[in-house]
Amino acid sequence: AKAWHLISRPTGLPTMANFALRDLPDAPLESDQLRVRNLWLSVDPYMRGRMNDAKSYAASFQIDQPMTGGAIGEVIESRLDGFAPGDLVLHMGGWRDGGVIGLDMMPNKLPAAALAAGMTPQTFLHNMGLTGGTAWIGLLRIAAAKPGDVVFVSAAAGAVGSAVVQIAKAREMTVIGSAGGAEKCTWVSALGADAVIDYKGGPVLPALAAALQKLGKGGVDVYFDNVGGEHLDAAFATASDFARFAICGMIDVYNDGKAQEMKYLIRAIPARIRMEGFIYTDQFIDCMEEFYADMGALIAGGAVTMRETVHDGLEATPQAFLGLFSGDNIGKMLVRL
Ligand code: NDP
Repeated sequence: AKAWHLISRPTGLPTMANFALRDLPDAPLESDQLRVRNLWLSVDPYMRGRMNDAKSYAASFQIDQPMTGGAIGEVIESRLDGFAPGDLVLHMGGWRDGGVIGLDMMPNKLPAAALAAGMTPQTFLHNMGLTGGTAWIGLLRIAAAKPGDVVFVSAAAGAVGSAVVQIAKAREMTVIGSAGGAEKCTWVSALGADAVIDYKGGPVLPALAAALQKLGKGGVDVYFDNVGGEHLDAAFATASDFARFAICGMIDVYNDGKAQEMKYLIRAIPARIRMEGFIYTDQFIDCMEEFYADMGALIAGGAVTMRETVHDGLEATPQAFLGLFSGDNIGKMLVRL
């Protein structure tokens, strides 16, 4: 098997020179291990933080070590109870085409019933996994969004954002989505958003204010932040009283860590804004059953769908990852092996 290794720490936007594809040693299985052939790899913005040496919520990648991340694999050989050849598993041994997976890679069998009902395996890397779970937890638990709320979501044509749009519409909220470019905005509208802002077409705040006015709404009740910067400031400027901000991500500053100017932060006081950052894994265990039942029903009923942007072959993994920062993806960015 082969795996991408991080060979130097990026400054700014990573380049191909930070990565190398290397052979993995072919070891016999020990107890509690699986050998898998990977079918799908996830690339996610949080992986950029893991390329730094700084302490964060996800452990740093180590130099000259194989990188990890969400993946779907097929079991080839098993010395782990409950797993047999042919089983499809979700695990953390991504950025590679397969190999030995131990308990540290958190293997979980995909539910046979969902697969039999026609759900694709890679759905567990998006709507039924990390990005769908993040959308669901952030919107419904952290922001406590309820029917009638006006929800503003940035990166609305991405994996998390597009799930937020659809869950919010299924719960009878008014949704304003922001995305870069006409094609993405058309798709976000098709998902049901009541208004869409193309943030590449001009400043966010006037566009957001105009969208609120056109919808006859006084302000943003819930802001789901995937971007930070100008989007977050526009949300401060337009927040209704007692607005809730779910701070999910700030991709605008992942590469350069630049200062974010917040001209309207002071509105947190008169508007009594509650702002809460959250990490999917902290909340997930607590609400897992409710999430799977609710999201499974939304997907089965057609209320929540996903578009996938697929790169083929292990070699394409770094390009797929880098594409997240230039907006190359519509919906979930995936690598198919
Ligand atoms: P996406 O599928 O949304 O891909 C990233 C998108 O971000 C791009 O397609 C691009 O879309 C947009 N983008 C990139 N750079 C900028 C920029 N400078 N300004 C505005 N938009 C930008 O990724 P995910 O759905 O996986 O993740 C979305 C966010 O959620 C990220 O911030 C991520 O870190 C966060 N996240 C947080 C989790 C948590 O537990 N807190 C868990 C999972 C994700 P466009 O073309 O529209 O610019």
